[in-house]
Amino acid sequence: MNYISVAIDGPAGAGKSSVSKAVAKALGYVYIDTGAMYRAVALYAIRNGIISDTQKIIDALDDIKIEIKYSDSGQLILLNGEDVTLDIRQEEVSKGASSVAVIGEVRKKLVKMQQEMAKHDNVIMDGRDICSVVLPDAQVKIFLTASADARAQRRYKELVEKGVECDLETIKEDIIARDYNDSHRSESPLVKTDDAVLVDTSDCDFDESVRRIQEIITKTVG
Ligand code: C5P
Repeated sequence: MNYISVAIDGPAGAGKSSVSKAVAKALGYVYIDTGAMYRAVALYAIRNGIISDTQKIIDALDDIKIEIKYSDSGQLILLNGEDVTLDIRQEEVSKGASSVAVIGEVRKKLVKMQQEMAKHDNVIMDGRDICSVVLPDAQVKIFLTASADARAQRRYKELVEKGVECDLETIKEDIIARDYNDSHRSESPLVKTDDAVLVDTSDCDFDESVRRIQEIITKTVG
């Protein structure tokens, strides 16, 4: 049986995860958050004090077992059997994920896992290299983006709602730095492939973003 793959790439904070999750639920697809996998590798490296040592991270790769499971509350990420779904969202881990993501050996391991997952279900997979490297034959390809200002505002609002003290300018600077790292690395940089549909959500809310993505998918695959 041939399964349908929807590939969604875009910069940090464009709403890829939340929009993809909602669309996957509505269409009955499996949602795969590949950023969470890079975050799990980073968390392992931080916990073991090797985040700045590329060779040690490469040597440790066989000891890093990542699993994605699904529960009623959504996707769970397990690192060597431990549920790290919440731990991987810390700011330190976001920065760490960007730095382990430049290591070719890390990418090779995770890309292989991601390609395997897409063989067994209809999937919506989001990340930075899904259209270009992981699923180049995906039936639907989308580049989801928004201005750095809009992304920073959303992140700021999210943190304020959670009661986290934060500064809008610092958030924007972090977003711009992460965009730069992700787009300028030599291993699978973030790019919009020519065959991906560009969706800019700077001026639309969450429901409108979900509606636009869902429309692109249903128009293409029925
Ligand atoms: O999507 P998220 O922000 O959770 O991803 C964390 C980091 O992992 C990104 O900033 C990026 O450096 C890296 N990543 C990647 N390729 C992917 C998904 C994420 O390089 N497919």
